[in-house]
Amino acid sequence: MKRAALLLLGPVGIIALAHCLTWGFGSDADAHTPSVPVATPTKVDDTESTQPAADVAKRQQSTNPSGDLLTRRCEQRAVHVSRQLGKDAKTLIRAPFVLASPMSRADLEQLYNDVIHPTTQALQTAYFDRLPDEPITLVVFSREARYREYAQRVDRRPMTGYYGYYLRDERRVVINLATGHGTLAHELTHALSHFDFAKMPEWFDEGLASLHEECEFTTDGLKLLGLPNWRLAQLRQALENGRMLTLTAFTTSPQVRIEEKGIDYAHGRYLCLYLQSRGVLGDFYRKYRTNYATDPYGHRSLCQVLHVNDLDAVQAMFLDWIDEQ
Ligand SMILES: [Zn+2]
Repeated sequence: MKRAALLLLGPVGIIALAHCLTWGFGSDADAHTPSVPVATPTKVDDTESTQPAADVAKRQQSTNPSGDLLTRRCEQRAVHVSRQLGKDAKTLIRAPFVLASPMSRADLEQLYNDVIHPTTQALQTAYFDRLPDEPITLVVFSREARYREYAQRVDRRPMTGYYGYYLRDERRVVINLATGHGTLAHELTHALSHFDFAKMPEWFDEGLASLHEECEFTTDGLKLLGLPNWRLAQLRQALENGRMLTLTAFTTSPQVRIEEKGIDYAHGRYLCLYLQSRGVLGDFYRKYRTNYATDPYGHRSLCQVLHVNDLDAVQAMFLDWIDEQ
């Protein structure tokens, strides 16, 4: 059974990017450091958007001795977020997820079954070995006006991006579904990866999350494949005018550049797409995570999965591939 393609961003995303570069991205507060990468204390992730995963919850609970505890924490979180939302709030608990919304419970069920659950399963198959042991809250809105009202009233974000944001310290994702489901996949990737690879550097964190902004399931429904998107034009332009970093500079930077965030997101996304095209993205993710202490920039892992001796060779192959796109 073929699943429908998910997580489209498209032209609306370009508009949003301009918006985010002006307003939203500047508020990010990642604290990735290359050599002493501690778990990011307060992460606010604005995306230019995406979308995309229910037995998983039951399976996780049945294999997780702390499942009952996780469910109780989810219930507590549901009460809290319900108060935040107001009297028309509906909640749905599918541990580790707590969905909250003014939308109907039937809509939340459908969103979980059609998008959140299959996306989560695919991401866990491809990358993540450690499953969440704390709740992940997903606050979803079907209308932009309500999304903005919540962002301003609860999180004091009057100028937030169109699509959504992620508060890492609270493990809370806020999404405007009126823009599609792409942002949901982007933020789900962040939320799940932070349990599995907490020290993941920002370039890879954003590259992998951005990859899932626009992706589709394989025909067997088991995997998600990133698709080319509008960020390629941005990357090409940056190549032409010298604003794209070398691979060495890019991967050793503690954070993506605030003033060139769009370019660095495109760089990370397309590096992930390149690795996916070579069939080694999942291998790179797991090797990098496992060897992070001795390979903090991922250079050795990149060279190993691509069977080359140095990063210059990786850079040359990557740029050749970009040229062919
Ligand atoms: Zn992000």
